[in-house]
Amino acid sequence: MSSLVTRLLPQGKLLQKSAAGLNSVLQKTASNDLSTSSPVQGSLTIPERLQGIPEAQDPGFFEMVEYFFHKSCVLAEDKLIDVDMKNMRASREEKQIKAHGILKIIEPCAHVLEVNFPLQRDDGSYEMINGYRAQHSHHRSPCKGGIRYSLDVCADEVKALSALMTYKCACVDVPFGGGKAGIKIDPKQYTENELERITRRFAIELAKKGFLGPGIDVPAPDMGTGEREMAWIADTYANTIGYTDMNASACITGKPINQGGIHGRTSATGRGVFHGLDNFINEGHYMSMIGNFPGWGGKTYIVQGFGNVGLHTCRYLTRAGATCVGIAEWDGSIYNKDGIDPKALEDYKLEHGTIVGFPGAEPYTGENIMFEACDILIPAAMEKAIHKGNADKIQARIIGEAANGPITPAADKILQDKGCLIIPDMYINAGGVRSEERRVGKECRSRWS
Ligand code: NAD
Repeated sequence: MSSLVTRLLPQGKLLQKSAAGLNSVLQKTASNDLSTSSPVQGSLTIPERLQGIPEAQDPGFFEMVEYFFHKSCVLAEDKLIDVDMKNMRASREEKQIKAHGILKIIEPCAHVLEVNFPLQRDDGSYEMINGYRAQHSHHRSPCKGGIRYSLDVCADEVKALSALMTYKCACVDVPFGGGKAGIKIDPKQYTENELERITRRFAIELAKKGFLGPGIDVPAPDMGTGEREMAWIADTYANTIGYTDMNASACITGKPINQGGIHGRTSATGRGVFHGLDNFINEGHYMSMIGNFPGWGGKTYIVQGFGNVGLHTCRYLTRAGATCVGIAEWDGSIYNKDGIDPKALEDYKLEHGTIVGFPGAEPYTGENIMFEACDILIPAAMEKAIHKGNADKIQARIIGEAANGPITPAADKILQDKGCLIIPDMYINAGGVRSEERRVGKECRSRWS
């Protein structure tokens, strides 16, 4: 593994910079095997309420994140006390109390907001819309994290995703706390006019409660949302609560370029997935541990979800020399052992609204395309896609967690026992948030694009 981690800058340039935390983990890993080490003197254990999570078929998403958090605490405790507090004038016992206190503060979500508001649909009928925003941590501000539109949205999901955002921002060292929002709708079932009214009303509800604003809480696109929704939110905020603020449109990132967005944001997460993988794929040591060879040439991959992250990941991996042999979408999967052209598939999807029927591949009729043979599997759709019930069917030896939380703890154990190299979400899908770090002017005049 190279001692450098590729970082994506807002201007779209790449900077190679040392990431000490990640490297220390990687170096430790390199000297042993693909799992992390055990504590020597640590007194922390996994709380009783979470002890069933490693075996659970369908764990709660926030519990799953909490379980991984506690697992990390158990591993990190000795280092926090004996290395990070080395220069503190206190006994080991006092240092231990302090370390435990800090870890307790980190775990829970600081604020969770639930909103319900009415929508009059285009046909005149009424419906109640349910939405959430969680702010996991204010330790660094603003809170940062996407807004998703999906029928799976609930308090548990936004809490889990906001916690993952805090850890992701810390992992790639961007100065944000974690946040996440969602509205429980299937956006495909609403007209553009209805979606605009839902989005604008949601923006007002968030802003009224301090869950939207430059320097406070700055959402971004996620599943089911994109530039269009971000532009509606920026406009709503600037014309209501933020009307006296010259930086009002900095209440949101991922806007269209002509409304203050930045070049490269749309593709940044997929690009980050490529660079995250690239650091491992080109390292002979890691590839030999999983019985593979370094380099992109000759490698095959399968992607679940051909949305923003999936599409751009495909573009960069194919450009590097890998072959996309399969893609899964919610309404069907496609397969081509000779390679699927991401650009042609993007054009087809834009025209037809689906990947089904794409002439450059065959329809896939097996059980699940994620179980097919390939070198790299990229879940880029939703959480818990790989679970206890299907992990043993995965043939890929490299898994890049492009989606947030796509592997449950039970599946993680099965895959690690099989000797898979799992590259975690908090590192590999951080390209989007990394690209959003753009500070213009001084503290009180920050603009986030
Ligand atoms: P998106 O809505 O653009 O794409 C998701 C795609 O997955 C859609 O094409 C959807 O049809 C497909 N999909 C949904 N259910 C599926 C299923 N059961 N099987 C196969 N495909 C299915 O969303 P996105 O922005 O690409 O986000 C995808 C994942 O990446 C999410 O977990 C999100 O939290 C994570 N993520 C996104 C960003 C970002 O910048 N957009 C950044 C970090 C992480």
